[in-house]
Formats: sequence, C-alpha cells, structure tokens
Amino acid sequence: MLDPAPTPALVLSVPVDVHGDYGAWATACALAGRGLQVVTLNSEMVMQARRNSALAAAIAQADLVVPDGAGVVLYLRSRGIRVARCPGIDLAENLCRRVVQAGKRVFWIGGRPGVLARVRQQTFGDWPEGAIAGAYHGYFDAAGEAEILTQLQATQPAVVLVGLGAPRQEFWIAQHRHLCPGAVWVGVGGSFDVWSGEKPRAPQWMQQNHLEWLFRLYCEPRRWQRMLLLPQFVWQVVWEPWRREG
Ligand code: UDP
Repeated sequence: MLDPAPTPALVLSVPVDVHGDYGAWATACALAGRGLQVVTLNSEMVMQARRNSALAAAIAQADLVVPDGAGVVLYLRSRGIRVARCPGIDLAENLCRRVVQAGKRVFWIGGRPGVLARVRQQTFGDWPEGAIAGAYHGYFDAAGEAEILTQLQATQPAVVLVGLGAPRQEFWIAQHRHLCPGAVWVGVGGSFDVWSGEKPRAPQWMQQNHLEWLFRLYCEPRRWQRMLLLPQFVWQVVWEPWRREG
C-alpha cells in the first residue's frame, strides 16, 4: 500500500506539500507505476510563479511540491507549520537508488554534453548495466528532442529526472509526462552538475543554517540577478499579513 500523500499548504498563494515523507511516497508511487510530477520549490520559483501564470499553473497541477528552499521552509514555520526542508537533490538521488535496487530503470535528461557520463561514474558507479534507460544532455535541437521523446516512450522508465533549469523543466515535464504515465518525473535543476563533481555542494553547516543560497551565489556570481528575487520574497512575506488585514 502507498504511504499517505503529503498535504498541501500555501506559500504566497503557491501550493507546497507538507507533513509527508516525500521520498518514501515518491518511491512507493514509482514502484507501483503511479505517475507523478514532482516540483522542488524554492523562493525564486515562488516569485517567478507570482508573475508567470503558466508556471503557477504548472506547479498547481504537479502531484508533489516539496519545500526545497530555505525561504519556503522559514515562511511555513513563521505561519506555524512545522516542516523540514526536503532538498530536491537528495530526494532525486534516493529515489533513483531505490528504484534501481528494485530492478527498475531511470532516465536522465539535462546538463551539458558529457556531464551525465560523469554522473554515472562519480555517483552511481555501483549500478548494474542497464539501470539507465536513457541519458541525454539538455542542449538538444528539435531532432534531438524527438529522439528523447521516442526513447522515453519506448523504454517506460520508473523515474525521469529532468535538469533543464527552472521553470523550463517544469513546463517540459508537464508537456511530456503523458509519454510515461507510470513514471515519477522530477525537475532537478543543476543536480547533474553536482553529482558529476563539476559543481560543489554547500557544506553541511551552511545547509543546516539555511545558507545554501549564499554558497551558490559565491560559486556562481552570475546568479546575482536571479537572486534579486530573494529580497523581494522576504518583502512579500513580511508584507502579506498587513495586506490581508488592510
Ligand atoms: N541546462 C540544460 N539545457 C539548457 C539550459 C540549461 O540542460 O538549455 C542545464 C544546465 O546545464 C544546468 C541546469 O540546466 O545543469 C540548470 O542549472 P541551475 O543550477 O541554473 O538550475 P535552476 O536553479 O535554474 O533550477
């Protein structure tokens, strides 16, 4: 039997699931052939969704939205909802490991050419031959995309990880998930770069103190423009109760 589904709460009108063992539920669904779209929500995405109704709709129709970002978790806690952070990268890695252990296959899409081969060597080197039903880099043209879609349909993997960056990966999954209706599809952002060893992950103390965003900014200063959404998120969070009362 499947574990109970997580229950939804709202972060600035964007739904997020809380009080669930997300990983166990996603794994149970993948093994049972119950298809899901998983969104790993952070405050940048919340702010994007407030301006982009198509993204808001893509998040709303996802089956599981996990609190990936520190801002999302702090928001929920400030509203009295006790919730632990669920880093999407950990959820996706555990999910892949568990389905492969159960003899099922995964399919990966995203990252620059060559990255996925290094992901296999660096992080999943212990897997049996054939555990990966397909692995395609994320810089495809129309013909490349058609090939990916054909392979997805032909192989019917249990898990599909899509690392094209948000929100593109959320739209891509929503558009194509019908090809593998029994698969768990997860938008994983830059996780392939981390698993390949190309990009470092924030040290534990920074993760535990909600400072992973600062580490990413330090490693990738070009992100500063996107990160201007973070102070806007904080402002909206502080302002929200006043606006409701007004
Ligand atoms: N990417 C891709 N195809 C593209 C653009 C980006 O596969 O056309 C990949 C890129 O190589 C990186 C990931 O998408 O691995 C985006 O990483 P980022 O950390 O920016 O993710 P986000 O924070 O946007 O979710």
